[in-house]
Amino acid sequence: MAEHIVVIGAGVIGLSAALSLQDAGHSVTIIARDFPGPAETMDAVQHINYTSPWGGAHNRWVPPHPTTGENAREHAMALTTFARMRTLSDTPSTAGATGISFMKGIEYLEGPVLPAEYVALDADKLSLPAFRVLDWTEFPDKRVQWGCEYDTWCVNPMVYCCFLLRRFVFRGGKIVRRELRSPLEVFALSPEKDLGISAPPPKVVVNASGNGFGGSSGDDGLFITRGQTVLVANTSVATVTRQNADGGWTFCVPRNYEGGTIIGGTKEPDNWDPNPSPEVRETLLKTFAATYPQILDEKGGFTVIRDIVGRRPTRKGGLRLEGEAVQGGGFVMHAYGLGGRGYELSWGVAEGVVEGVQEYLKGRTVET
Ligand SMILES: Cc1cc2nc3c(=O)[nH]c(=O)nc-3n(C[C@H](O)[C@H](O)[C@H](O)COP(=O)(O)OP(=O)(O)OC[C@H]3O[C@@H](n4cnc5c(N)ncnc54)[C@H](O)[C@@H]3O)c2cc1C
Repeated sequence: MAEHIVVIGAGVIGLSAALSLQDAGHSVTIIARDFPGPAETMDAVQHINYTSPWGGAHNRWVPPHPTTGENAREHAMALTTFARMRTLSDTPSTAGATGISFMKGIEYLEGPVLPAEYVALDADKLSLPAFRVLDWTEFPDKRVQWGCEYDTWCVNPMVYCCFLLRRFVFRGGKIVRRELRSPLEVFALSPEKDLGISAPPPKVVVNASGNGFGGSSGDDGLFITRGQTVLVANTSVATVTRQNADGGWTFCVPRNYEGGTIIGGTKEPDNWDPNPSPEVRETLLKTFAATYPQILDEKGGFTVIRDIVGRRPTRKGGLRLEGEAVQGGGFVMHAYGLGGRGYELSWGVAEGVVEGVQEYLKGRTVET
């Protein structure tokens, strides 16, 4: 049954969910405070709480834990997203406009102890494409204990999100720029008078607000994880990630489409500092060059375009993907708290949103 559905949020999650709801036959309006635009004009302070422009963004395969099964749901979502990215990037009418690039992903792990999910990794069972464990002669130095490569994708985030938004509008989707206090506020708005759109009042709202409206939604597990990265003009043919024994990370994410390459990065829970640190920038560049000198230009250096600070919308226990019946009628489908994995899980989350919404609508039809 076709419905008018409102999606709150125009980050990668809101846009993917909105498109998938359109695919399921619904008419969709996106309400958001921030919308995608060219990365070059995106203001670092004004849009700091809009995470999607500041992400890498690449897909790293994170295998489920072999005994606890932790992360199995997310791995399935990453596989769904990989397949969708492949289709988008291979479709002749969209190829070249999507901001998606396929390439090798290279991973290096330092000791002292290899995580159990890597020791017991069965690449075929996990459907990891073109997976290969690296020989120790391929490691950059002796601190690396294990390494692998596989096929994966990266996106230029704002090229990709602008593509999703354009596709959404082209298919008849409506957009409204507005800041809301709560997902419930949508049920009190008149589409015609308050939003300027001709549509019936929605019974279903999707909460893809990144941080789920913070603590005001009653979800007290939310926090941010600050990430500082550097955008450089140097290019790389692969996305490379190294996990250090001290818990630190060094990585590069080629954005392509003349968008440079991200060199990262920090992961700092509850750090709200919006300002990039020049010292951190120097350390990030130096550390990554030591692991992957192939990225350096002919003079042995980097050309820095800008520093980036972003806030990953993180949630204790992982993302929230569940529906909530609203007292007095209506349904809110929550899809937030993606932390550092919003792009790589996006189409899996969108699929979950559609399932949750369809189930609610089916139940409502049965009740009436
Ligand atoms: C440094 C860094 C590196 C990263 N690298 C990767 C990576 O390599 N791969 C990966 O998959 N992910 C990566 N991420 C994470 C990824 O960027 C996020 O998970 C993703 O962007 C979250 O998307 P979202 O749509 O949930 O939230 P957002 O992008 O924050 O979008 C939220 C939307 O909701 C709207 N909104 C919020 N509150 C309101 C309100 N009150 N009223 C109206 N609208 C509202 C906003 O305006 C916006 O449109 C990285 C993040 C950072 C910071």
